[in-house]
Amino acid sequence: MLSTARRTAALVNVLGAGPADTGPGPAPDAVAEVLRAYGEKEPVDLTVRDVEGMREAAVLLREVFAAESADAAAHVLNRLLGTHTGRLRLSSHQGGSPWHPHIDHADDAPWPEWFLASSCLALTVLVWDRQRPPGRVCASGSCRNVFIARGSGPERRYCSRRCATRERVAAHRRRAEG
Ligand SMILES: [Zn+2]
Repeated sequence: MLSTARRTAALVNVLGAGPADTGPGPAPDAVAEVLRAYGEKEPVDLTVRDVEGMREAAVLLREVFAAESADAAAHVLNRLLGTHTGRLRLSSHQGGSPWHPHIDHADDAPWPEWFLASSCLALTVLVWDRQRPPGRVCASGSCRNVFIARGSGPERRYCSRRCATRERVAAHRRRAEG
C-alpha cells in the first residue's frame, strides 16, 4: 500500500493539476512513464482524454495531501469514497497478479477511475495505519509537489532535497540582507 500511495503522489505531481493550473496537461507518455516506474504492466496505453480525466482526479486527491490532520484527511477521503469508488473486492486479474484489493467498479475500469479509486484505497489504509495525515504539500512557495509523509517521527516539510536546499539558501539570503 505504501508503494501505491507513493505512486499516487508521483502521479499527482506529474499531472500537475492544481487549483490555479489551467494550462495543458502532460503528454500521455510522461504519465505512462510514471506508471511503468511503479510496476504497471504493459500495455500502458493512455490517451489525451485519459490524462484529462486523471488530472481531474489529481485535483480531488490534492485535497487529501493538503489535509493537516488525520481528521481532515479522513473527512476528505470519506467524501471521495462516497462518491467516486465502487465496492471493495479482491482481484488477481485472472491469475495475472497476486490477490489485491480494488475499489474501482471493474478490473477494466478507465484509467482515471482506477487512479482515483486505487489512490483513495492506499491513502485510506495509511490514515488507518498511522493515524496521521497520509501526505503533505511541499512547503516551498515555488513548488506544488505532494509527497507521502513519514510514518513516525518529525515530519519533513519539503518534497525533495532540492526544495529544502533552495529554501534554506533563500532564508539565509533574507537574513544576510536583514
Ligand atoms: Zn518541493
